[in-house]
Amino acid sequence: MSDLTRHFSQSEVACKCGRCRGGAKISPDLMDKLQQMRDAVGPIRITSGVRCRKHTESRTRPTSSHVPNDLGDGEGRCGHAVDIAAVGSGRRFRLLDAALAAGFVRVGIGSSFLHLDNDLSKSQGVAWDYYK
Ligand SMILES: [Zn+2]
Repeated sequence: MSDLTRHFSQSEVACKCGRCRGGAKISPDLMDKLQQMRDAVGPIRITSGVRCRKHTESRTRPTSSHVPNDLGDGEGRCGHAVDIAAVGSGRRFRLLDAALAAGFVRVGIGSSFLHLDNDLSKSQGVAWDYYK
């Protein structure tokens, strides 16, 4: 048992800016969905979780769902997004399938990762890419 869910720990989703203590919370609902995916597909590698306001990415994307915010969803101030490694078309498909089955309705598809979030302040039922 890890400290967030059965298979995920705070250290895996903590902010990696190097300027904070990495203690910012992540949405429990998001982690429940991610655990459901883990149960379906096995180990999942989180490449980015919470990003505090000091994180370099937060400076250019301050409204990102990775940045802790209180959305009034009863979870308090926490991050609402993770990026997970998704390399290869088969692996990407299995992760996407599991993400939709777990109830994610906001999905970003990168060349080597998936962005999954449960940010209720943004459009629901959307999938986007990161092509320039
Ligand atoms: Zn930080």
